[in-house]
Amino acid sequence: MTDASSLARGVREGDLRLHELEDHADHDTAATARRLVLEAETDADLEAIGSYGFEAEAAESAIENMLGAAQIPMGVAGPVSVDGGAASGEYYLPLATTEGALLASVNRGLSVLEGAGGVDARVTKHGMTRAPVFRVSGVVEAAETVEWVEENEARLSEAAEETTNHGELIGLEPYVVGDSVFLRFAYDTKDAMGMNMATIATEAACEVVEAETPASLVALSGNLCSDKKPAAINAIEGRGRSVTADVVVPGELLEDRLHTTASAIVEANTRKNLVGSAKAGSLGFNAHAANVVAAAFLATGQDEAQVVEAANAITTMETRERADTTDLYASVSLASLEVGTVGGGTKLPTQAEALDIVGVRGGGDPAGSNADALAEVIAAGALAGELSLLAALASNHLASAHEDLGR
Ligand code: NAP
Repeated sequence: MTDASSLARGVREGDLRLHELEDHADHDTAATARRLVLEAETDADLEAIGSYGFEAEAAESAIENMLGAAQIPMGVAGPVSVDGGAASGEYYLPLATTEGALLASVNRGLSVLEGAGGVDARVTKHGMTRAPVFRVSGVVEAAETVEWVEENEARLSEAAEETTNHGELIGLEPYVVGDSVFLRFAYDTKDAMGMNMATIATEAACEVVEAETPASLVALSGNLCSDKKPAAINAIEGRGRSVTADVVVPGELLEDRLHTTASAIVEANTRKNLVGSAKAGSLGFNAHAANVVAAAFLATGQDEAQVVEAANAITTMETRERADTTDLYASVSLASLEVGTVGGGTKLPTQAEALDIVGVRGGGDPAGSNADALAEVIAAGALAGELSLLAALASNHLASAHEDLGR
């Protein structure tokens, strides 16, 4: 084992490469050496990046060329009662963000949802997708390939499921474009977000397709999946988990706590989230679902680039008449929320602790129930964010709330 200064000297003199340092020292020493190299070659002082509170080896499967850690403040919103398909009881939601006022806003929304008796939430669809693209000579071979796939789905299931103990192939949709054939495989990945699981399983199924049809695999991901790109297919068909949270908020509570009315919130939602989003050609019809999704993803170790599709949400608001009061029905539907409680970044120390706050670290019983519960709690948080922001707009309090918080 070599000390950090000698390793850094080795890199600067060209004897070692930055990505090889773990071959010569433990992971923390390697990270220290990289900081020394960068400090010597730039004017940066990397003391804060080097002040992380876990062993670098724990991040081995999450990062290469580790320098240290980007530390993002984490706060908590809640508690809120969630009556879900998997979630049941009171939940706190950990959120990591640098956007001032976000936690205050979500917390205010959750307290109103709690005052309304809590949130109902359900995961209504599962399916982590991978869509390989194959080359054929033309439409005749394309049709032959699609016909074989449709008649032999059981064989493809068997090949795919041999690679995983938990994953199940639950859907397979072919698409033809000229001499390209796409097969969109969808899996129930239980408590895993499942992108690695689905990729490995699909690779095994592709070998069978190539052996039995004229199709040749060009790319295991043909972008019809669609991972980490804005895509209507995810908004329509769903990806990962499709989840909805809803609530009826009594009119009195809206006036007491949010200083507005159901009608004013409904108008703000219609003109902004529905008409404005339609005019903009937006895929999302919501106020800021991405804020809650991104902050929850960072806190709990989800793949942050999937916020692109995970924040794909439609917010609806309606008036509901009751005696001499008008209540508010509010809902958020996230079409493609990709979350897991095992695998990926969920194993990192702060992220695992954040999952403990929600009570969903690791595999659930039954398998899949922890990730379902996490999806339902995030949806409740997104609903709180929507309600709070729309109420602020409806009552013209947005600017003054930011001023009060000094921003
Ligand atoms: P993973 O860390 O690769 O695998 C998690 C594994 O946990 C599963 O394969 C499963 O093993 C096992 N497991 C244990 N208990 C489980 C339970 N209760 N439910 C489900 N699985 C359980 O994670 P992943 O979710 O498949 O993939 C996430 C990672 O993929 C992230 O790091 C993300 O950044 C990365 N990613 C990959 C791609 C890609 O194209 N490959 C794209 C985007 C993101 P069995 O399979 O044996 O059951």
